[in-house]
Amino acid sequence: MDKPPDSDRVGLSRRGVLQGGAGTLLGAAAMLWGEGGVARLRAQDSIEPTPLPATDPRYPMPPTWSRELRKLAPNVYAYTQGGAPNVRFRGISNAGMIAGDDYLLGIDATQGPIPAKAFIAAAKQATGKDFGRLVNTHHHGDHVNGNQFFTHAEILGHPYCRAEVVKAVASTPKMWSPTPGVADVAEERRLVPPSVTFKDDLTYFIGGTEVQFRFAGPAHTWGDMMAYLPQHKILFTGDVGFFWVAPLANNSYISKWVETCDKIAGWDVDVIVPGHGPIGGKKDLAAMADYFRVLGVEARKRYDAKMTPGAACAEIHLGRFDNWISPEHLLANVVRYYAEWDNTLTPDYDAAAVREATIEYNQIKAGARKTGEIVPLRRMEEMAKEAC
Ligand SMILES: [Zn+2]
Repeated sequence: MDKPPDSDRVGLSRRGVLQGGAGTLLGAAAMLWGEGGVARLRAQDSIEPTPLPATDPRYPMPPTWSRELRKLAPNVYAYTQGGAPNVRFRGISNAGMIAGDDYLLGIDATQGPIPAKAFIAAAKQATGKDFGRLVNTHHHGDHVNGNQFFTHAEILGHPYCRAEVVKAVASTPKMWSPTPGVADVAEERRLVPPSVTFKDDLTYFIGGTEVQFRFAGPAHTWGDMMAYLPQHKILFTGDVGFFWVAPLANNSYISKWVETCDKIAGWDVDVIVPGHGPIGGKKDLAAMADYFRVLGVEARKRYDAKMTPGAACAEIHLGRFDNWISPEHLLANVVRYYAEWDNTLTPDYDAAAVREATIEYNQIKAGARKTGEIVPLRRMEEMAKEAC
């Protein structure tokens, strides 16, 4: 039931920053305004902490929710990461667990030693059992990096998920480095790919619970799996669902992702556990699809006007979605929409295009003295490595 640590709370409004609350940032921002060049903008990598962008009081703010193992139905649990308005998104994924007679079936492994071990310990405490199976909903690091801690579990995923994890093995560091919320000490790190693959419609009957794994892709990635529990009308979407957190389309086929959300709207579902954000339901998934619809309209106007993605992002407002956590995901999302419209979309993250868009966006925001909206390049580049 931990609340997000206070150290993550960035309590400065943009006005507070401009009144002198963050000297480091002001200094850096002044440098940006003075020069305005790309080389200077690269110095933004050292800007910490970053104030959050101003929020719009006309629209609701995200709720506060806890890191907890929550029982949703007999033998069915969600493990959510905490979050709140004005707390920086750390990208650690939610997870799930279904208890059988002999073992636990897990859904996603989270990001690293701290959340994975906490999830495993909470599951053991609640049920007295260990994990025997683990399904990765997709290949992103915050869902698979904890695989190594599920030591006695057979790990399953879509063939695309396995292929991407296998590709990432060589570049994975050999040790965990201490990272807030992810790892507290240096310890051995191994990226473990799924050893079993399946393409669609795999059903477990475990301890009286029917768990249907359904292929959802291409959507958030080309290998998305969701877990549907028809008896309880519960759906674990993996990252097909982002609730109150701006969705991140770094590897996505956005228009197909929206189609998947529309399809789910017709399913018999009451409770949805998203990959990121608090537990919700169909209205939350519909809201996320609306984020992409609104963004699609706004980005398309600017695409048709031949604006670059970075310049487009600097202008775009999304109304009620501007208050969602991690608004900087907009940059990757617009780059992705542009690729779709250019017919150049591939399953891979276009890190260079997102970097270019971020630099241009920051130049425009710095010129307009909107320091709270500057996005550290490092944050966008971390997405390429530990993508959510
Ligand atoms: Zn993801």
